[in-house]
Amino acid sequence: MDPFTLGSGLTHGAKPEPYRRLPGDPVRRVLRVYTQDPGTSRSDGAIAEVELPWEPVGPGPTGRIFVVRDIHRPTGDVWAPIDLDDFRVTVGKGLPPSTTNPQFAQQMTYAVAMSTYERFRTALGRLPEFAPAVIRKTKGGRIEIRPHWDQEDNAYYEPDEAALSFGYVKSSDRSEGSTQPGAYVFTCLSHDVVAHETAHAILDGMRPHLMRPSNPDVAAFHEGFADLVALLMRFRYRDVVRRGLEDSKDETLDSALLTDMARQWGRTDGDGRAPLRHILYRQGRPDEPVPKADRYDKKKEHHELGAVLVAAVFEAIGRVFRAKTRTLRKIAAQSPGSRDHLIDLLTAAARDLAGQFLNIIIRAVDYCPPVDLTFGEFLRALVTADWVTVPDDPYQYREALVLAFRRYGITVPGVPDLSEDALLWKGPEVALPPIQGLSFSELRHRFEPGWFADHGERQSRANSFGRYVTSEGRHKYFGLRPPGRSGELLYDAPVVESVRTLRRLTPDDDLDFHVVAEVTQRVRKGKRWYWGGSTVVIGAEGSPRFVIGKGVTNPERRDATDAFLQHAPREYKHAFETEEWSPGAVIRRFHSRSSKR
Ligand SMILES: [Zn+2]
Repeated sequence: MDPFTLGSGLTHGAKPEPYRRLPGDPVRRVLRVYTQDPGTSRSDGAIAEVELPWEPVGPGPTGRIFVVRDIHRPTGDVWAPIDLDDFRVTVGKGLPPSTTNPQFAQQMTYAVAMSTYERFRTALGRLPEFAPAVIRKTKGGRIEIRPHWDQEDNAYYEPDEAALSFGYVKSSDRSEGSTQPGAYVFTCLSHDVVAHETAHAILDGMRPHLMRPSNPDVAAFHEGFADLVALLMRFRYRDVVRRGLEDSKDETLDSALLTDMARQWGRTDGDGRAPLRHILYRQGRPDEPVPKADRYDKKKEHHELGAVLVAAVFEAIGRVFRAKTRTLRKIAAQSPGSRDHLIDLLTAAARDLAGQFLNIIIRAVDYCPPVDLTFGEFLRALVTADWVTVPDDPYQYREALVLAFRRYGITVPGVPDLSEDALLWKGPEVALPPIQGLSFSELRHRFEPGWFADHGERQSRANSFGRYVTSEGRHKYFGLRPPGRSGELLYDAPVVESVRTLRRLTPDDDLDFHVVAEVTQRVRKGKRWYWGGSTVVIGAEGSPRFVIGKGVTNPERRDATDAFLQHAPREYKHAFETEEWSPGAVIRRFHSRSSKR
């Protein structure tokens, strides 16, 4: 048996590849979108212009990353595609927002999906990839966007179909805002929903094995993470943030305009439409736990559990915001009539801060274990990701995160206390030499370090890493074990899943460079497989700096998975019991409104 193999993310090639600008190309494309949804009032900043890097697009739009194909599943009809290069479209910065023109929905879904993709690209300093399931399905590894897919009160990222599919429903008699009773409500016109679905696709591309629901936090993490991305993307829109601050009673971030998710497209059950989710925003002393009903409880339905994660991160942002703007507020309090000016300054501060936290959240995914993630581990990933970039933490972002997670009852197993030092991921247990071929000076780049390396180079990096972690006596430092039988257990060969670069600009304008590699291994016991392995963050000189491991030999981890799966839906069990499990079926289950079997 081979000592290790390469995963499908490495054998299929990295995709999708964005357009590379040529001299003479336009720099940007500007398109109009709803900042929330058509139910939001114009005075609340309902419409904004989004700037995207220009790429040539055919009708659809058909770009390099996303292809909009507006097919209606029940009838097979296809709405005529928009041509973004038509002068009638370009002169007006895209079509004007409309609930009745399907071509506007095509424009908006393209614009929001692309801006979400670009946001990840900036935070990671590399090209995001889509999941192997998506790349298997399509030649260029692009995702198809279907704005008016079916009459259904939901939207989905469907990896098996390489698609983002959006449903629509008739609104009820007691709808909120300006939505007419009986009118259609399109999920594709909700900025939150489009950003949420796109975030699912990119998260799955970063970590396909995190989709395997091995504990109660997994589904909740996917939902919470996608909600956080959608909520923080909203802070890009100046008018929305300004209006939100004006509406809140003491210029904090707790206004409904900033904390309600998908307001028009809420729940239809009960009395009319309420927001789909809103943040459980609970101000209070940092050492005072939130009410029990709002705290972490693994028995909660997964959207509710995801909402706890969102609330904890949002509370940390709110706390840092208050701390960072204290002086500003004091000065404003001394000068009557300065509220407008204060709100302007607070708007700028809130937008910067939301952008910084969005960077931390996205980068933290690189610091997560490759499988079986828990909220506590995500906190450690957040703390480590931020510590690497900003070691001195002058505004105590990390302390705010730690305190907020504690207030919401999210625990971190395996650490003596919640000090920064205890929470930071550690290096290997023993001093290990640098990995041959993975130091910055040895890597061969294509175009630039953030671009996909060519196929041979990717394989060679993966093989260097695979040989390193599986060489004699090293397995145990990386959560692995040599393949073969051990009593009733059968260990497969470890699988190198990815070797990627991570670059970011520090606040001092230094370029920070790391390689992030993942190795997984599965072990079979009876009819079920269990996954372990580790994420290894490698410094510029090639040495493992952090090892974020989930031991594959650990019997307690297997027991915990069994206990969780006992009451889990059939689709979840499939992910552990069949070779050809469907990530699409699992994520459909994540999105269902009930957690019933
Ligand atoms: Zn979701």
